[in-house]
Amino acid sequence: MVEFAAVEIAATADRGNVLRATRDIKPRETVLVEKPIFATKFTNNIAKAYGDFCQLPGAVQDEILGSFFCPMGSKEASRRLRHASSLAPEDRDRAARFMTIMSFNAVEQTPVIMDTKGRDPKILHKGQTLALLRMASKASHCCAPNAFWYVRDDGRAQVIRSTTAIRKGDEVTITYLEEKKLLLPTDKRRHLLWQQKEFTCCCLRCAAEDEDTCIFQCSSAGCPGQWCLRRSGGASACLSCSFVPSESDLAFAENQETELQHQLDFCDAVERGLHEDTDARVLALKPLHARHHLTHRLASRQHAAHTRAGRHAEAVHALHLVVQCRLELPATCKSRAAAWGLEMLGHALKRAGDPFGAADAYNRACAVHLVIQDSSHPYVLYCKQVLLASVSELPPIHAGVADMDIDLHAMD
Ligand SMILES: [Zn+2]
Ligand SMILES: [Zn+2]
Repeated sequence: MVEFAAVEIAATADRGNVLRATRDIKPRETVLVEKPIFATKFTNNIAKAYGDFCQLPGAVQDEILGSFFCPMGSKEASRRLRHASSLAPEDRDRAARFMTIMSFNAVEQTPVIMDTKGRDPKILHKGQTLALLRMASKASHCCAPNAFWYVRDDGRAQVIRSTTAIRKGDEVTITYLEEKKLLLPTDKRRHLLWQQKEFTCCCLRCAAEDEDTCIFQCSSAGCPGQWCLRRSGGASACLSCSFVPSESDLAFAENQETELQHQLDFCDAVERGLHEDTDARVLALKPLHARHHLTHRLASRQHAAHTRAGRHAEAVHALHLVVQCRLELPATCKSRAAAWGLEMLGHALKRAGDPFGAADAYNRACAVHLVIQDSSHPYVLYCKQVLLASVSELPPIHAGVADMDIDLHAMD
């Protein structure tokens, strides 16, 4: 069921099977196209999913139970064994084994279609499916992945596509986390991965001493550079001028961080518990550096607060910062999170009465979408349509923008 592969399955000493490139791969190349060996509707009902599995030919059932990663010592496996206790005794172990395999190997397939019935094109997501794939399910996680995957042909095939150059023999990696979660610091990413897949990520980003999402502006006069907190304590020197932050610089930065974290956590807790409006409190907070994870969290909330109050210009300002956060982090600059941020910025600029800015944002969104998906994907088609619609609304003085090329070279 593999239609195309520039990768092969390779065993590692410590992390089970992974995918390795069988040749040099350029950015924006299709690396793998594969149809699932098994697919079932997204459900927590073990009997229903197991029932679907039992419809498969015996040889395929055996292949699934025998060849996919299945840590029976995991918490997830014990949970599945408990859930399976309602099944007939002869099915219990098999069902638990099957569901454990699904938990650790299945990928979500959400077919995307474009709906052009209304005045504006819309993207629709249709019914979630969970799929097992012989090769794609072996792709390992990295917090700075060199590839992303998407679903093609209304959910029938999984496509992995490179976002950076990959050398022959290198591992091809994707993210198991939602893309926006890659903006979080190492301990938070590791916590989420442990909850989802019960492993401690040791990718280069997680193993690095420098925390690339805790960055502060250099305090040396006139320096545009930045320094970051280090995982074992202290800070790196400024990347531009080699200035080493003093004890008091460090204490000041850590204070700012703790205070902002505290305020944001407080607002979340109030909203969850008392359903109270915290917009005024959120709007009074000041963002940190664009490469600090709390800045993305704060700017997203400020954007929502301004939008709720109908303050279009302020909403655009906050959204600019959200997009900047996503584009400046190498791990997310070529992700759907970046493309969608730019699309949102386009919509907001349109509402704020800036059609030229909107066209520019849509253009940049298209360029990012085209890294991750091929040109016939609904996300790309949708983005091109809103781009064309916004260009057609521009006054003649900006006619030149109609020739605007989607700037793909900037993406390599
Ligand atoms: Zn990692
Ligand atoms: Zn500096």
